[in-house]
Amino acid sequence: MRIEEDIKLDYADVLLRPKRSTLTSRKEVVLERTFRFYHSPKQWTGVPIMTANMATCGTFEMARVLAPHKIITTFHKYYKQAEYQKFFETFNNPNFVVYTLGMRDEDITQLKAMSEAGLLNNFSFICLDVPNGYLEKFLETIKLIRALAPEHIIIAGNVATNEMTEEIILSGADIVKVGIGPGSACTTRRMTGVGYPQLSAVIECADAAHGISNTKGCGLVIADGGQQYPSCIAKAFCAGADFNMSGSLFSGFDESAGKLVEKDGKKYKEYFGSSSNKALLEFYGKKEAHRASEGRYVLMPYKGSVASFIQDLFGSLRSTGTYIGAKTLKEFSKRATFIRVNKQLTTYLENFDQDN
Ligand code: 5GP
Repeated sequence: MRIEEDIKLDYADVLLRPKRSTLTSRKEVVLERTFRFYHSPKQWTGVPIMTANMATCGTFEMARVLAPHKIITTFHKYYKQAEYQKFFETFNNPNFVVYTLGMRDEDITQLKAMSEAGLLNNFSFICLDVPNGYLEKFLETIKLIRALAPEHIIIAGNVATNEMTEEIILSGADIVKVGIGPGSACTTRRMTGVGYPQLSAVIECADAAHGISNTKGCGLVIADGGQQYPSCIAKAFCAGADFNMSGSLFSGFDESAGKLVEKDGKKYKEYFGSSSNKALLEFYGKKEAHRASEGRYVLMPYKGSVASFIQDLFGSLRSTGTYIGAKTLKEFSKRATFIRVNKQLTTYLENFDQDN
């Protein structure tokens, strides 16, 4: 047994120090980035924000609204080939959609079938998503996917530590998904005791990924989960995240899946973890006897179309850039100085309702 004494931090444990700036307007802050990759020969330009690959927000409806804003939709794992076939009859924007799969035999079978049918050409990205990215089989599956899709931008996760980030990139992924336990619908930390405070995980994994480079590009990371507010997305970019992935921030909208529920005169939409009892029963028909649920079911206040949120999100990111003197998203991490804050302030921010 060993104890690490270093203090590890979450988004709520820090604020950003304002800095002298030559910017004259928020409009000047550029949110688009262009990336090249360690393995894939592709180049990608867009706003590096994506929905989680969850049943509630990784939907076709979401992609139709987000793609024109150059935001990525990471589809959930439960769409079947025939559904993709139909969707791509009326959607053609590969840079802003991700095909997600897990490690089960059926997942690999569908990936191969999608490839043979030419459907994978509709995606620039493929995401291998597992709750625990520390398994030997996970690395083997990354190698298999890289062999099947040599040109695609491959995302793989989730992990929360530097040494596994490096292994994942060296095994064939371009982007590592970082986050064990920060998700709002996740109960892994409570059920298993395993996790890593997310801001520190992002800082340490980004540092490891960026250290692996060749003439084309370097390893990249996605900060996945735990962003309760747009400010958390800004903090993740400041911590070195190349992309941000969020589930709850993209839920509760018309374009999110899940039932619309009315309770005490207010409207809500369902949001549930991918390992919740609801997801396991709905998508796999059963919860196997050896596993416990590691996800929650919550009702999110209904918020209309996601388009209005995009405007707020872009506005707040531009405002962060103006405060810290960063003209581009790339500069966020260079300009950022985090200040640790006390628990009282954290609690205050968590209880603050923006509309009151
Ligand atoms: P959020 O944006 O809601 O804070 O977090 C979304 C992320 O939580 C997802 O991208 C995924 O990594 C993680 N997640 C989603 N469902 C579950 C679950 O049931 N259990 C766990 N451990 N993590 C989940």
